[in-house]
Amino acid sequence: MPLPPNHKPGPLNIGLMGGTFDPIHMGHLVTAEEARQQFLLDYVIFIPAGLPPHKEKKQVTPAEHRYLMTTLAVMSNPSFVVSRVEVDKEEPSYTIDTLRYFSTRCAPGTNLFFITGADAILDILTWKDYADLLRLCTFIAVSRPEYPLNKLGEITGKLSPELRTKIHLLEIPALAISSTFIRKRAALGKTIKYLTPEPVEQYIKKHGLYKK
Ligand code: NAP
Repeated sequence: MPLPPNHKPGPLNIGLMGGTFDPIHMGHLVTAEEARQQFLLDYVIFIPAGLPPHKEKKQVTPAEHRYLMTTLAVMSNPSFVVSRVEVDKEEPSYTIDTLRYFSTRCAPGTNLFFITGADAILDILTWKDYADLLRLCTFIAVSRPEYPLNKLGEITGKLSPELRTKIHLLEIPALAISSTFIRKRAALGKTIKYLTPEPVEQYIKKHGLYKK
């Protein structure tokens, strides 16, 4: 990957944006852009989850659709790319395996930041090898407006002081939009215009995704 034009001398900062993205929406894109600016990220790599380990029994749209919608959504931003690392896996994808994949492929000294929803991080103590995960990267826990911050505080309070400093909270007002909201509207035949980029909206229509 070529160095982005805004890269300052020194190690690269790479954001890894993990999520199911069913579908990706404007809230996710605003989040990635805000994280890019606040944490001086050179790139944000979107990583649609293949078979999320905690969702095996729930119905999730096939990974290829979610990957293609994510690719369409980031097309116009030169700092955003999409990785197939999780969608190409046949077994459940654990974040620790993804982090190890990237940390062994990046130049020494690269700083990795894992960006995801604060709700997802509430369960971090149950994630595979969570302590190693927090040593490999900094977590950016993104929250919606009026998110009860005490919930996350209770969880991080159970971590050692060293690991606790690896989780940062980022409030994103645009995250009032959610994938669940979009799926429900699409199922009811309501418009989803401006909630997700237009090519994603067209993709959902063309493939009849989220219809009851
Ligand atoms: P989720 O339970 O579907 O989402 C929890 C909340 O976070 C939802 O409100 C969701 O909103 C939001 N969210 C998810 N990803 C986001 C993002 N990148 N930016 C902003 N908000 C986001 O969580 P998930 O999407 O399945 O999982 C999130 C990430 O954690 C994935 O990369 C997953 O692989 C990882 N994870 C790993 C383990 C493990 O290794 N054991 C366990 C659980 C999760 P939307 O629905 O609007 O996105």
